[in-house]
Formats: sequence, structure tokens, C-alpha cells
Amino acid sequence: MMLDEQIHAAAELFKKAKHVIAFTGAGISTPSGIPDYRSPNSGLWENVNPIEVASMYGFRQNPQAFYNWIYPLTRLTLYAKPNPAHEALVKLERFGLLKAIITQNIDMLHTRAGSKTVYELHGHLREATCVHCFTVYPAEPIIKQFLEDRKVPKCPKCGGVIKPNVILYGEQLPIAQIQAARDAARRCELMLIVGSSLEVAPASELPMLAIRSGAKLVIVNLEPTPADEIAEVVIHADAAEILPQIVHRLEAIA
Ligand code: ZN
Repeated sequence: MMLDEQIHAAAELFKKAKHVIAFTGAGISTPSGIPDYRSPNSGLWENVNPIEVASMYGFRQNPQAFYNWIYPLTRLTLYAKPNPAHEALVKLERFGLLKAIITQNIDMLHTRAGSKTVYELHGHLREATCVHCFTVYPAEPIIKQFLEDRKVPKCPKCGGVIKPNVILYGEQLPIAQIQAARDAARRCELMLIVGSSLEVAPASELPMLAIRSGAKLVIVNLEPTPADEIAEVVIHADAAEILPQIVHRLEAIA
């Protein structure tokens, strides 16, 4: 299929479905300048062992190493802006078509763009928690302070180390978010997968859940994914270019 036909086919599927959900990964945010931090090619892993710096064990042993590692990502995230792909999903939600977004991203660009129902499977940088007394703080002032002095943030109440509410290796994913994501996957008629290689669980299992419940898949991702074979429409291109075109086409045929 030519790109134009694929966009049209995707829009037709959206038109027929009453219940659409989106599943998004790092690829939706790379056009906003945020690297895929789980990718070995992101530049974030040079000279660093992920298990040493980005696991809960590593964090407790050496929080400064974690903060040094996350520094560039934090800086980019604080100033990043949603791109046309995020905005296209906001539009779809306002049409009443898109019921939920499940995301692997911690950058909060979906909620900043204006999306309402967002399940953040890997946590977010909106809040931070003291690992000693579990007091939860708004993350932004803590992050700004850290960007200035690069020091490990400490809890004003107990002096414990503060950790952003992102899920580290070896940590449980947030149960409520996972449950909501699974329910959404079972209920949807169409799952739009954007910018995820679908390689890590639970990312890999959600499209299968949807398929088994009778849903169809539309995939927009730069690289091939393991779910390409079972999807109705697969577009290997930049989501920030493609999603607005799908929405535009949908508006024309709706
Ligand atoms: Zn504390």
C-alpha cells in the first residue's frame, strides 16, 4: 500500500470503531527531542551499567550516580513540548473516539498536551517520593533545584533521599495503572500503537490482549514491530507527521 492509502485505511478503521485506545512509547516523544532512554542508542547508557544506576538496588546504593545519569533526560523533559502526534491524540479524545492512552513514557507530554485519560505504566516526573518516609512531593521544584546544583534531593522532613516517581529496573509497575491498561485493551475495538517497539513486557502483551478480545491494530512506528504481522494497518514513519494526517482524513470522511 502507498502511504496515502495506508492513512486512508487507518482513518476508515477509526471511523468504524466506537472504542479506540492508544498505546504509546518513546517514538512519539523523540520528535519533541526526548531520547528513548531505554534504548542503548540513546546516548544515555555510555559508560553506565543500567542495573547499577537505574535499578532500585542501585539507587539505594548510590543515588548520586542515578541522578548524574538522569540529568540530561530530566533537563530535556522539563523543557520539552508536545508535538503534533500528541496533539492529534488530544483531538481524537475530544471527538469522543479515543477512550484512553496507555504510555510507557515518563515525560508527561500527553497530559501536558491536554489528554485526560492517560495510564503511565513506567511512572512520571510529576511527583517524587522520599524513599525513607514515603512523603510525596511535586517534582518540578525538586527537579529545578537539582538541575541547578546537581545534588541528590533530600526530604525536608526526614533527610531521606527523594526519588522521582519513575519506575526503576527491578521495581513493580504501578498495579492500578497496569490493571486499567489491561481492562482498556480488552474493551477496545481498535488499538493504535505509536512509537513503541513492543519489545518489553507489558508492552508486548497488551496488543495480544486486544487482539484476543476481537480488536484490530493500527501501528505507526519507525521500525518494524513483532505485532506488524497481526495489524490491519502498519505505517513505518514519523508519528508526528502521520497522526495529524490520519485525524485530518478522519475529519474529512466522518
Ligand atoms: Zn522523608
